[in-house]
Amino acid sequence: MRRACARPGCSEPATATLSYGYASATVWLEPLTPEGHPMTHDLCDRHAARTVAPRGWELVDERAPVRLAPPLAS
Ligand SMILES: [Zn+2]
Repeated sequence: MRRACARPGCSEPATATLSYGYASATVWLEPLTPEGHPMTHDLCDRHAARTVAPRGWELVDERAPVRLAPPLAS
């Protein structure tokens, strides 16, 4: 079962789960969790990529790292 992005007006399938760790002022981006939770927000790729931490907060992206192109051989 797929869940949709939580952003208003967005109906893309969710690929990431956003949660806020208030105690540590940390915003977590994780791969989509199997179950929805009232304290988390499911986001599509586009909205997950646009996520910014509030001032004074740290954004921790725990999703699979984007594979970077290898450096060109010189
Ligand atoms: Zn979205």
